[in-house]
Amino acid sequence: MSSESDGGSDGPTKTICPYCGVGCGIQIAQDDEGEVSFRPWGDAPVNNGSICIKGGAATQSVNHEDRLTDPLIRDDDGELREASWDEAYDVVVEHMERTREDPSAQGGGFYGCSKAMNEENYLIQKLARRYGTNSVDTCTRMCHSSTVYALKNSLGEGAMTNSMADLEEAADVFWIQGANPGEQHPIANSQYFRQAVLEGATVIQVDPHANKTTRSFEITETDRHMHLQPEPGTDIPLLNVVLKTILENDWVDEEFVAERTKGFEDLKETLEDFDKEAAAEEAGVPLEDIELAAEKYAMANNAAIFTGMGMSQHTCGVDNVQNEINLALTTGNLGRPGTGVNPLRGQNNVQGASDVGAMPNVLPGYRDVSDPEVRADVEEVWDFEIPSDPGLTNVEVSHEIGDTIHGLYIMGENPVMSEPDTNRVEERLEELDFMVVQDIYETETAEYADVILPATSWAERDGTVVNTDRRTQRMRGVDKVHPNTKDDLEILCDVGNRLFGDGSFDFDGPEEVFEELRQVAPIFHGMTYDRIGEEGIHWPCYEPGDEGDAYLYSDGFTTESGLGRIEGVRHQPPKETPDEEYPLILTTGRIIEHYNTGTMSRRSETLTHVEPENFVDVHPNDADRYGIDDGDYVTLKSRRGEIEVEARVTEDTKEGTVWTTPHFADSAGNRLTNDVLDDRAKIPEYKAAAVEIEVSVTANDTDAADAPADD
Ligand code: SF4
Repeated sequence: MSSESDGGSDGPTKTICPYCGVGCGIQIAQDDEGEVSFRPWGDAPVNNGSICIKGGAATQSVNHEDRLTDPLIRDDDGELREASWDEAYDVVVEHMERTREDPSAQGGGFYGCSKAMNEENYLIQKLARRYGTNSVDTCTRMCHSSTVYALKNSLGEGAMTNSMADLEEAADVFWIQGANPGEQHPIANSQYFRQAVLEGATVIQVDPHANKTTRSFEITETDRHMHLQPEPGTDIPLLNVVLKTILENDWVDEEFVAERTKGFEDLKETLEDFDKEAAAEEAGVPLEDIELAAEKYAMANNAAIFTGMGMSQHTCGVDNVQNEINLALTTGNLGRPGTGVNPLRGQNNVQGASDVGAMPNVLPGYRDVSDPEVRADVEEVWDFEIPSDPGLTNVEVSHEIGDTIHGLYIMGENPVMSEPDTNRVEERLEELDFMVVQDIYETETAEYADVILPATSWAERDGTVVNTDRRTQRMRGVDKVHPNTKDDLEILCDVGNRLFGDGSFDFDGPEEVFEELRQVAPIFHGMTYDRIGEEGIHWPCYEPGDEGDAYLYSDGFTTESGLGRIEGVRHQPPKETPDEEYPLILTTGRIIEHYNTGTMSRRSETLTHVEPENFVDVHPNDADRYGIDDGDYVTLKSRRGEIEVEARVTEDTKEGTVWTTPHFADSAGNRLTNDVLDDRAKIPEYKAAAVEIEVSVTANDTDAADAPADD
């Protein structure tokens, strides 16, 4: 399904970077041997030709020798062997039918993919629902499900309220809490946010870890900017200090609150007896610093909040984001350029995967699956009955394996590495009756699969993706690198047609799928492939003439009442806190050179050359306490598992907190993390786990082992 080049008959093909949610345009070219290479796209709408280290290296993983080339089936002896597509499909269909008929089972769980395109995620959620379950989800569950929940509930739409362009032009203050755009959204940071800062905008960063964002804005070098470094899991008390300071000083936008919000009295009541001194102490940040930050935010003409996984990945993730919404609503910082509450979305299509309905509680366009009118509307197009009960999220599906979940269908995701408590996930996968994985490599998850279907990569397919500021853009592919691979879309249609044979999966390419998506998801209704073109269109785009909204809520919120919802929230500490046995708090985050489970970035020469292995940041005082020198290898142990990593002694992290990454298979932080969930969004608490640390190999020993042996 690869397209004609858009760069002239022999020119490179214009597409979108497969890594982060910024959605940078790149070009790709292909040589006679099929090898794909990167070319800049000089006037790409989002990035104007700029590119970060990952984007520039993205094609390296496409050409990697680990690519799957043929279908694989696991025989009775447990070994994988090559098979024809027909044979592989027969096994998939037979097992799926058997699992579906098992009265003790919920049917099975379906994993969409935040790296796959809208059309592919649309098809997998349709496949799940045709199969008889709403248990379909993607890794948005792991990163921003709490953010989406809070934004949808309180403002109306589960997405970034503003666009990168209007934030650059109009924001005077950037309040960045639990996000690290310097590393995780590098082009948004360098091209948009840094530009605003050069023109005078102030940055207030709230994060337990100093990082490239801190350094890129030189936050600690000037009185204009601030870095508040709270203890992990104390965002609610810190923001409550900010809110109470705003109330005490009459910095509330009373007209906005009166006309456009509800629930302000509830916030006042929550904060009435709130003790600012005690809360600041709990957060580990001087009270006067938080008060000064509150003043800077409240006094700005336009202040924008950026929120990331440091906020969302907690058992109080929904309330964390609700408190940011409280801050924006109370000060009237919504509905104008340069304001809002803006989640910086992770994967290149994590926004789109949710938008097109790969979630257990909503149909395409965030329409409530439990609403009979919504179902009837969609059933008219789909022509089959949609199950009415919301399904299980992917972590709940994982927890149910061995009980009510007996089969998994996984498109492109890698739960062995992306879910918390890896050892337990691996044990559960052993208990499955059947798992099919369609992917481009034999991932850590595919090692447990009964059938592996080899997919084409992002560089070989056409479709659409939605970036972090709701801009829908087209991706275009070159020819297949391996002739016996298939597009995810084609695989899903083949499986759907073999399972049901009723025409529900008769599509001749992604544009036909998009045309059906438009019919059932009003936010996309006004878009066509032609209209999206090279510039892209922001959703919502309800009618064919709509230009799409770069920022939301200028005329009112899209909640049922039309009002923004304020709700006071109280501190909820992490479920696991340090004790004698596990005296440190572990928190995790990503680095610029790698991406999430590292499936692609670890197969890039450039990226692994720069950062070949995992590490842990340890504060100098903790290093003294536990006898750790910079470069030692340490064992980090939680109640769930242990990893061995290199220690980097640095003041980037707070005393008592250690920081590591999830990217590296043999030492991923998720062997240690806790799988307790936020009650409403079901997001796990990746950001706080109690651990102990001890030296396993000293730097001296490592040097000696690396030294050449004497002859
Ligand atoms: Fe790709 Fe994100 Fe880097 Fe842009 S900022 S090149 S989208 S990884």
